[in-house]
Amino acid sequence: AADPNIRWDKAPCRFCGTGCSVLVGSKDGKVIASQGDPDAPVNRGLNCIKGYFLPKILYGRDRLTRPLLRKWNGRYDKDGDFEAVSWDEAFDVMAEHWKKALKQSMDENKGKSVDEMTSRVGLFGSGQWTVWEGYAASKLLKAGMRSNNLDPNARHCMASAVGAFIRAFGIDEPMGCYDDLEHADVFVLWGANMAEMHPILWSRLTDTRLSKPGCEVHVLSTFQHRCYELADNPIIFAPQTDLAILNYIANYIIQTEAYDKAFIDKHVQFETATTDIGYGLRPEHPLEQQAANAGVGAKKPSSFEAFAKQVAPYTLEYVSELSGVPKDNLLRLAKAYADPNKKVSSFWTMGFNQHTRGVWVNGSCYNVHLLMGKISEPGNSPFSLTGQPSACGTAREVGTFAHRLPADLVVKKPEHRAFSEQVWQLPEGTLNGKVGYHAVLMHRMMKDGLMNCYWQMCNNNMQAAANLNEESYPGWRNPDVFVTVSDPYPTVSAQAADLVLPTSMWVEKEGAYGNAERRTQFWREQTDAPGESKSDLWQIMEFSKRFKVEDVWPPELIEKAPEYAGKSLYEILFTNGEVDKYPFEGKITDARGNEYRNHESRDFGYYVQKGLFEEYRKFNSGPDIIKKGHEMAEFQAYHESRGLRWPVIDGKETLWRFREGYDPHVAAFNPDVEKGDVYFYGNANGRANIIFAPYEPAAESPDEEFDLWLCTGRVLEHWHSGSMTRRVPELYRAVPDAVIYMSKDDAKSRRLRDGQMALIKTRRGQIKARVETRGRNRPPNGLVFVPWFDANRLVNKLTLDATDPLSKETDYKKCACRVERV
Ligand code: SF4
Repeated sequence: AADPNIRWDKAPCRFCGTGCSVLVGSKDGKVIASQGDPDAPVNRGLNCIKGYFLPKILYGRDRLTRPLLRKWNGRYDKDGDFEAVSWDEAFDVMAEHWKKALKQSMDENKGKSVDEMTSRVGLFGSGQWTVWEGYAASKLLKAGMRSNNLDPNARHCMASAVGAFIRAFGIDEPMGCYDDLEHADVFVLWGANMAEMHPILWSRLTDTRLSKPGCEVHVLSTFQHRCYELADNPIIFAPQTDLAILNYIANYIIQTEAYDKAFIDKHVQFETATTDIGYGLRPEHPLEQQAANAGVGAKKPSSFEAFAKQVAPYTLEYVSELSGVPKDNLLRLAKAYADPNKKVSSFWTMGFNQHTRGVWVNGSCYNVHLLMGKISEPGNSPFSLTGQPSACGTAREVGTFAHRLPADLVVKKPEHRAFSEQVWQLPEGTLNGKVGYHAVLMHRMMKDGLMNCYWQMCNNNMQAAANLNEESYPGWRNPDVFVTVSDPYPTVSAQAADLVLPTSMWVEKEGAYGNAERRTQFWREQTDAPGESKSDLWQIMEFSKRFKVEDVWPPELIEKAPEYAGKSLYEILFTNGEVDKYPFEGKITDARGNEYRNHESRDFGYYVQKGLFEEYRKFNSGPDIIKKGHEMAEFQAYHESRGLRWPVIDGKETLWRFREGYDPHVAAFNPDVEKGDVYFYGNANGRANIIFAPYEPAAESPDEEFDLWLCTGRVLEHWHSGSMTRRVPELYRAVPDAVIYMSKDDAKSRRLRDGQMALIKTRRGQIKARVETRGRNRPPNGLVFVPWFDANRLVNKLTLDATDPLSKETDYKKCACRVERV
């Protein structure tokens, strides 16, 4: 029965990129219940098992409540033990280290142009940050500290998707939306286990498959998982050969003349790109020495005929043999794409993205859709799903990547920097024009002593990063490096840090997330955070008070803005211009007149989220891509809705990007566009790029010594490193430990039984885990799958830190291992 004392409010789920909405019930200062939001268009009242237990993530018994600093004899000592300290002491010690590193950076940058500047401080953020947190972090690092060493954990997640969007369409973010789940006739899952990773989307896809006559589902992966229960065309391919399969499909479409010539002539251009790009390993690695690496992303014009020649070697026979996929399955897949009467939606996540050729394989999927003109309309969608709740909203849109500024602007373009300086009221030449260190490079730089301060927020990189033993842990424990971790729980990362800051989470603060279909959802603060926990936004802004502009900017820059002399970064960045125009009036209500809590706004003295939002809106009249003088939706419109799909122009959401009638930008960029036609406005000539990419082997493959492939990933019950879900008793008991999923034959040939403890080794390390041959994941002979949620079995001690040289995203799906009896 309804309890009138429970106050219900809406919020997005804290976990995955699906972005379900939940109703949160609070009573007596505690969240006591949640339920799927029946008014939510994404999940229509449903949640997955993680969503149903959301409130419990707030109440783990080991929740951090005070800052912890490593000390010995009353002073900070890297080899000391954690002691509780005040926020003042925590920030004073942290700022002392940051000031020293920033001073060294300033000295090293003397006489250099902004395109050559480096920095010794870095922040590793997250697609789990709220939009405001990401925006404020971007502003503190890039505008305040002149450091582009800011990267989100989205670098481990969908950086390859971003790279491919920009190469093909000149602009980032998916063109489809979740409505494709009802509109498509054919679904193709490329390395995406939607049944476990995006379960609510999977339930919508399942409904369509079971109710629409002729609907078919093709599932491709390197091992069998739960999606195969619904597969009409189940395909298991040899790791890395997805590149070859996509080229076979393109070749089939061309050979059978199924391609849409009119669409190609009007909307597509062909390019060819450098293919000798290396594997993103340290430069001294033999594989890097083989690769020329020069002109890593260079492209030049090509033609349909040249592209046809490039894909011609990818015949059915060749690709079947290379991939191990029977010819009939390949042919059925190619025919589905080539059928002009079928709408095809391709979905992918980490199988494509965590790939040493991630940008290529994303791009090759666009090639297939573009050849058929099956793109940017209901049901015809190449759709990269995200893993983080705000990969789109935070990681991409507000500039938290090492190469980006807010609203799709990039640090390398002088006109983008100039525009950002104008919005942020900075003197000309403040912003650093050199791309900062990406996630993997930050660890390498710390190990080498070239980056000395590192702050990790909303993240668990000491469990998530690849090759932990060799490249990550040594950097964190380098005596010349000061590591701060902000987290609600004592994660593996927190335990390896020098300073740990307790963080409020989810509805303990106000926020906004942007999900995989670009839907931005706002929520209000609904309960208290425990002890002295503070939001990441508060931490970023409060830390900025510790720096005078003289600590971070050289005299010649301050001379250009004498009014800033003697001011703190807080004053310059967070109480300046648009940001402080919105005084907190003591009462914020929703459309029904219910009063919202807003403690942190009161702490700041003004309504900071509103101010940051209004400032961010100014970026949306930027210099080239997102411009044309259109107004983003009002702050309040987001609060009143169940989310709006970005970008929202003149009150209209964007459903299928680049298509007139669905995307308000199209007519703005091309007033002559025909009704319902496509215009790829991200590229100056309005055309999308088809770029050939060849098949190339993985950075490391099985051999005599390490005879199996190792693939890592997630399971339904745990989200990412498990730092939240493993503290929910029901989820912990459901899947307490990571296991080694392997085939019965592989287990038997190693004299291993189900449930037996085994040793799994790679060239980089070893861990122990139990063998599982009958579970939900059924690898073929020659491959094992080990989830990475388990802090007691750090599978990333084993993985290789090879990255895609274009996106810098790590390949967690492929390296060589062996499994032995203990
Ligand atoms: Fe929805 Fe993902 Fe949350 Fe599950 S974890 S309820 S699918 S957002």
